[in-house]
Amino acid sequence: MLKLMKYLKSFQIPIYFVLGLILLQSLAELYLPTLMSDIVDKGVVTGDTHYIWKIGGFMLLVAAGGMICSVTASFFSAKAASGFGKLLRSKVFSHVGAFSLHEFDQFGTASLITRTTNDITQIQQVLIMVLRMMVLAPMMCIGGIIMALSKDTKLTLVLAVAIPILIIVILIVQRKAIPLFKAMQLKLDKLNRVLRENLTGIRVIRSFNRVDHEKKRFDAANWDLTQTAIKVNKIMAVMMPMMMIILNLTSVAIIWFGSIRISNGHMEVGDMMAFIQYAMQIMFSFLMLAMMFVLIPRASVSAGRIVEVLETVADIQNPAQPIKPKAGYGQVEFQDVSFSYPGAEVAAISNISFKMNPGEVTAIIGGTGSGKSTLINLIPRFYDVASGKVLLDGIDVRDMTQESLRQKIGFVPQQAVLFTGTIAENIRYGKEEATEEEVRHAAEIAQASEFIATMPEGYDTMIAQGGTNVSGGQKQRLSIARALVRKPEIYVFDDSFSALDFKTDAKLRAALKEETGNATVLIVAQRVSTIMDADQIIVLDNGKIAGIGKHTQLMETSKVYREIVMSQLSEEEIA
Ligand code: ADP
Ligand code: MG
Repeated sequence: MLKLMKYLKSFQIPIYFVLGLILLQSLAELYLPTLMSDIVDKGVVTGDTHYIWKIGGFMLLVAAGGMICSVTASFFSAKAASGFGKLLRSKVFSHVGAFSLHEFDQFGTASLITRTTNDITQIQQVLIMVLRMMVLAPMMCIGGIIMALSKDTKLTLVLAVAIPILIIVILIVQRKAIPLFKAMQLKLDKLNRVLRENLTGIRVIRSFNRVDHEKKRFDAANWDLTQTAIKVNKIMAVMMPMMMIILNLTSVAIIWFGSIRISNGHMEVGDMMAFIQYAMQIMFSFLMLAMMFVLIPRASVSAGRIVEVLETVADIQNPAQPIKPKAGYGQVEFQDVSFSYPGAEVAAISNISFKMNPGEVTAIIGGTGSGKSTLINLIPRFYDVASGKVLLDGIDVRDMTQESLRQKIGFVPQQAVLFTGTIAENIRYGKEEATEEEVRHAAEIAQASEFIATMPEGYDTMIAQGGTNVSGGQKQRLSIARALVRKPEIYVFDDSFSALDFKTDAKLRAALKEETGNATVLIVAQRVSTIMDADQIIVLDNGKIAGIGKHTQLMETSKVYREIVMSQLSEEEIA
């Protein structure tokens, strides 16, 4: 909680303003009962109508002044709190932007979303309340006690009994409620996760008839959260009537003992009336404090979750003294590279050494789970190697900034991802300032221009959220075009031709060959026909290199490669 305070600095002025206004408001409220007792004792009792009018008018003025202060304070505290929320959200957003894939794996997308939205809203709401109560509660408490003492010392003994009882009740409630608030936030996370999976996986869920199963899963998470929320609210619901009983009993006690004192001539009627009001103010201030002590731990759970995100230092950082790689050249070398995912027992890839030269096509082939995607994720430094080195033009990729490294790479991930926007915008994602000519050219090479032409608005056709209005193969071709438009020094295709038919695959590779020219090209594929004519083929098996060379060489030397080829091509094709 305290760690987030530093962001409150930007709102210092409105906050001081709010606190000042509330100070004025509490002074007004403290003054009103005294004025009232004056009216009763000096006006009503003596029948001095003029005095009643005079002080009554003054009371109205003070009350109006207090109200204006209160309204203005609400306005500014809302403003400061929502500004704070906005600032915090953008801080979290930009911080998460710098996370490596490792941190995303660690937090989980659903939790990151809840933290950015719900948790920050939580803090924002509490801040509004706290800003009000932080001054009002202590002022009313201390001021109330002083004023009550000035009216009658003996009667304050009633408060000496009532207040400890009140405090005990508050403490009991808090001990029960605070752990529940913590649990609630976790359960909300879970609900979000289930919901997210359901929404993104709706096709799978329907096709496998798992709607009921998912419904149950959602209901379970929903029920769990609801139960906790009900428990919390029950506790809170018990608290209010208990408080009211204590308050009312206190009033009764004051009137009881007050009337005895009045009949004995120790006290005046107006003073007793004022005393009751001060007693209420004091006890309400304890309630406010209690509220604060419930709200603050709740917000501090949220704050803790946000600080956790803000304090997570991304695994992958830019070096202090980055070396700038040469432009227009992109030789990549793996030197004895090993990598394992956090928590995994076996290394995903181990002892990988090879070199990819500009102007050459390197291909990686291997069964699913053999580590192909893992290997190429190390080139743009999505993950850092565990041992060994990945070199770009002889420079370790960890010695250059991520921007300058990724600048040189046109990456087509295994999962084609498109963004909401037009087709042209999606292709331009690779290079913002690409001309229309460049966009068309890239689409042509990616064999996408044909199907784009048949779309209702050509390049201006909107891609739906998640790219649902294009087929898998079309998506792949668009994401290839996006990489091509950059004209990078290094092309990386991760199984990017898998959803294309053989003919389109062949046409694309032929066009690509001309386009890539002097660039370094790395193609990951499952199909032998896609990679047969590569300059260098790397056969991956269980994260290790099982063979490296050209097709004809590998046919003779690598058993694993031969097996893959045999399983895919007919006899005459092999010959
Ligand atoms: P390929 O692309 O060849 O199909 P991958 O490189 O995706 O294989 O996966 C290699 C191995 O690493 C697999 O055993 C997989 O289970 C594991 N793996 C892949 N991604 C992750 C991840 N984010 N966290 C943990 N393990 C992973
Ligand atoms: Mg893969």
